Amino acid sequence: MNQKKPTNLSELTKAEIAKWLNSFDTVLTDCDGVLWHEGVAIDGVPEAITLLKSLGKEVYFVTNNGIKTGREIWKRATSCGYEIDESRIIAPIQAIAEYLQARNFTKKVYIIGAEAIRNGLAAAGIESFGPGPEVLQGKLNDFIAQQVATQAADDVGAVVVGFDEHFTFAKMLKASNYICSNPDCLFMTTNLDTVHRYPEYRIPGTGALLAALETCVERKALQFGKPNPEICQELIKSGKVVPARTLMIGDVCKVDVLFGYNCGFQTLLVGTGHNSIYELNEVLQNPIENPAFIPDYFVPSLGDITKLI
Ligand SMILES: [Mg+2]
Repeated sequence: MNQKKPTNLSELTKAEIAKWLNSFDTVLTDCDGVLWHEGVAIDGVPEAITLLKSLGKEVYFVTNNGIKTGREIWKRATSCGYEIDESRIIAPIQAIAEYLQARNFTKKVYIIGAEAIRNGLAAAGIESFGPGPEVLQGKLNDFIAQQVATQAADDVGAVVVGFDEHFTFAKMLKASNYICSNPDCLFMTTNLDTVHRYPEYRIPGTGALLAALETCVERKALQFGKPNPEICQELIKSGKVVPARTLMIGDVCKVDVLFGYNCGFQTLLVGTGHNSIYELNEVLQNPIENPAFIPDYFVPSLGDITKLI
């Protein structure tokens, strides 16, 4: 059985690297773990992006970050030394706002998630509520009478779930009732990321919070992050991105590599994520079960490519 294994770019000759560089025109890259860590650029990577652009590659940044608006991510990119147009940032909050705008959405949005979602929606003229702490106070029936029944169900036209440090039973109770009391209520999420900072810690991701809500409402949310290939369908339809000539760069096999696979892109995993090497070894142990998670290429850091060319 021919088992897929990633090609390590560091082991290629200069001629092979040149051939590989000629195999794509467009680059989509994840941000956190590839371009920067906690707001600090990863060594040599801004130079690598500049080099790719100087070779004529069209570069897009694509993130699952649901706690920053597209503009905030763009500002972070700029402060880290990346020159990129704001329109080249593909981010969930922006995608959700555009989805609602395209449907002439005029109701309110209930948010389980960060303040950035409210800000992103407000910038698009969409009213929302929910971010911040909220706990069940007093008796359950009193809370239902005061907090759930008072917000007319048809007033809330969408529930958006993102990463929320203040996730509680009270929020789940509200969201479930908004979703189920109105069959037209949209149910959306910024991403399905299950865990952060693993294996150092296990910080529950949006996908973990969402699973609780999906179980309760017996519905699946529309998701606006990787690995959903829908998030770049507009770029593909317009011809700006040609899948066979596109490279996806990421640090997480089960999100970034799977996204590239779903879109028909070639994929490059970098080893600069918290979990990249650990996860790669894990998926390589089951190549038959995990073909969609195995990248075509691997490089310890994207910064290395300046030395390889
Ligand atoms: Mg990442």
